[in-house]
Amino acid sequence: MTNLGHTTQKFSLNTGDAIPAIGLGTWKSPPDQVRKAVCHALQSGYSHIDTALNYRNEVEVGQGIRDSGIPRDQIWVTTKLDNPWHHRVREGFDKSFSDLDLKYIDLYLVHFPCSTDPNDPSKHLPDWDFVKTWQEMQKLLDTGKVRNIGVSNFQIRHLKRLLTDPSCKVVPAVNQIELHPGNPSTKLLEYCLSRGIHCTAYSCLGGATDNPLFKEPVLSQIAHATGKTPAQILLMWSLQRGTSIIPKSVTTTRIEENFQLDGWELAKNEMEALDGLKTRFKVVNDSWMPIKVFFGDDE
Ligand code: NAP
Repeated sequence: MTNLGHTTQKFSLNTGDAIPAIGLGTWKSPPDQVRKAVCHALQSGYSHIDTALNYRNEVEVGQGIRDSGIPRDQIWVTTKLDNPWHHRVREGFDKSFSDLDLKYIDLYLVHFPCSTDPNDPSKHLPDWDFVKTWQEMQKLLDTGKVRNIGVSNFQIRHLKRLLTDPSCKVVPAVNQIELHPGNPSTKLLEYCLSRGIHCTAYSCLGGATDNPLFKEPVLSQIAHATGKTPAQILLMWSLQRGTSIIPKSVTTTRIEENFQLDGWELAKNEMEALDGLKTRFKVVNDSWMPIKVFFGDDE
């Protein structure tokens, strides 16, 4: 269904909750800038903030949320369990919870399907994997401090394994994955939708600065024809695929630009032209992790 009010749009989750379509990303947002960025985004109309323990800026993200003056119940906050905390989920959650200093967290994600040994980042924990992590994640729902749980960077093989394990009582509400025309992951997206798992698109600007998408003539042609910026075209492509988006910026003008997504959409042929791009690249890889997480075919 066509929805021209994207800034107020929400996607329904399998929990009965609804996640705002547009959020602000905060990866690599320096602590001394993210507080102002978060506050500016919320005062500009954003109602969704994405952060993670791994980003080391949750104290300042929480301050930005409070600075905005927007009531807590009008803001969606997502944060994530870092890899070295898989065998101590409650402690990892409590660290984010206390740093953010909010009454509750809307969505808590397993950041990667990789349980790293905290004493040696080159090693995977020998007696632990993400199925056990999920058992602990499910228990968090009883604390009243988190409303929805989900995963991130899970490929089809991870989800199949998790969903068929008898200990899996709660289907993840969300899988947050890298999605842009250079990494469309169509099979994974379709698999998630078929299991009732909503997808949030990260690096939805392709990680921006000098990425290959911005050199694609098709992107500039569509931007020129519609009178929108290349960034706005990429964001609309993701929204029209039914995914929520979390573009990151610490620049006030870009935070505003990335939210100007009401009253227009891409035509079918424009979506198809972006779908047809042959450029392939990933912003996030798994070379820094002790195990392989990404498989080129989404499987
Ligand atoms: P992104 O949002 O695709 O791109 C961010 C970059 O684009 C920044 O350098 C930003 O610069 C620039 N930018 C923002 N708006 C722009 C515009 N309108 N025109 C030109 N450049 C623009 O990349 P990302 O940070 O990788 O992904 C977004 C968010 O997704 C992250 O911040 C994080 O919250 C989440 N994420 C999650 C995972 C995961 O594993 N779950 C992985 C990666 C990202 P300035 O800030 O200088 O304006």
